[in-house]
Amino acid sequence: MLTRTVVVVGAGPAGCAFALAMARKAPGLVGEMLLLEKAVHPREKPCGGGVTIIGERALRALGLTWDDLNVPSVPVHHLRFVYESRAFSWDVPYIFRVIRRPVFDAALAAQVRKRGVALWEQCPVQGMTYEGGWWYLDTPRGTVRARVVVGADGAKGVVRKALRLPNRRHVSRLVEVFMPPEDPLARETVHHHTAWFDFTPIHHHVQGYVWDFPAVEDGHPVVNRGVFDSRVWSHRPRANLADILHTMLRERGVSPNRVRVMGHPERWYDPRGVYSRPGALLIGEAAGIEPMLGEGISFALWYGVTVAPWVIEALERGDLSFADYNARLRFSELGRHLTLRVRLAQFAYARSPAFVRFWWTSLGRFLQVYKYKVLRDMGRENLGLPAAGDWP
Ligand SMILES: Cc1cc2nc3c(=O)[nH]c(=O)nc-3n(C[C@H](O)[C@H](O)[C@H](O)COP(=O)(O)OP(=O)(O)OC[C@H]3O[C@@H](n4cnc5c(N)ncnc54)[C@H](O)[C@@H]3O)c2cc1C
Repeated sequence: MLTRTVVVVGAGPAGCAFALAMARKAPGLVGEMLLLEKAVHPREKPCGGGVTIIGERALRALGLTWDDLNVPSVPVHHLRFVYESRAFSWDVPYIFRVIRRPVFDAALAAQVRKRGVALWEQCPVQGMTYEGGWWYLDTPRGTVRARVVVGADGAKGVVRKALRLPNRRHVSRLVEVFMPPEDPLARETVHHHTAWFDFTPIHHHVQGYVWDFPAVEDGHPVVNRGVFDSRVWSHRPRANLADILHTMLRERGVSPNRVRVMGHPERWYDPRGVYSRPGALLIGEAAGIEPMLGEGISFALWYGVTVAPWVIEALERGDLSFADYNARLRFSELGRHLTLRVRLAQFAYARSPAFVRFWWTSLGRFLQVYKYKVLRDMGRENLGLPAAGDWP
């Protein structure tokens, strides 16, 4: 039986960021770690691919630049927020970047290997049990024994199930399509580096928005479109996401029959949730991301950067109970940011159309002021970014 001190389940952004942060902070532990991944990179993952400044900051904390990753990306310089007939713009250069997940995640996994951490692909964890201070993980390559298991296996992960945590179901729903930029809105999206967020479907029970993002696939510009339904108010009627997506496509002059629709849930963070057991903890979407915009990549990276030092500390102390993990997470910068977004989502997707109109108008004014803080922060933060024009 193979024995490792730390086994990470899932080589998405959270698992890779955690492994990279461990390798950076405790190089002596690199040989004691193993990352298990069910798929083989580059693997498909339904995702819009928007990486914000939060993700950039996390990458930098891992000692990575976009040049190191060498991943094609589309910078977004303009955000257009729409609600009914009202709309406003937010023009901030490099407000976020759009990557394609198979390529981005494969690049992260390559960095993990480059730093000497063992990564076994095509090796799904099928179950796990705890006995005598060890976790025993069943895999097709046999049982792996670990002192610490880090569940970074996403919204439908097995680690969360094995831990039998007493959490409520906090799941958002998303559907998306990728298509060539043939209609006028798609062309504007791609050529003007613009991302659209349309909250009008709130009237059709969507607790979220529909989006249009510019993207790149195999060197060609494409447009990514989808519906995000946070379900922060889970007792309210469910929207028919397929209908909403079809309506959105028809409004843009696209026949829904011509596109392949992909759907996947997202799990969102509950400040009162439980995310650990002795010798095991959850990070990334396995724990929960933010339900306001459904931004998960950047938060998954942030989880990895935040939690790795806590695991190192626990190993040094010899206390692997992780009894304080929930509180520590909740009061960390990451946890406070996640909690703020949960509250904002509950506020934004709360009530009647009149209430939405009220916050919508206020949001427009607030963002005009907030823009200057973002520009100032980005001016400070983004000095290491490649120059504009890497796409197209
Ligand atoms: C349609 C859609 C659009 C989205 N758009 C955006 C966006 O534009 N921007 C954004 O920031 N976020 C977006 N998200 C959210 C984002 O994709 C996720 O939040 C993010 O991928 C979470 O990263 P993670 O590393 O925690 O989990 P994942 O990326 O899901 O990685 C989990 C990894 O674990 C592996 N795994 C699973 N089970 C096992 C097992 N049993 N054994 C071993 N390995 C296993 C999986 O193969 C996977 O590689 C979107 C999500 C959806 C569904």
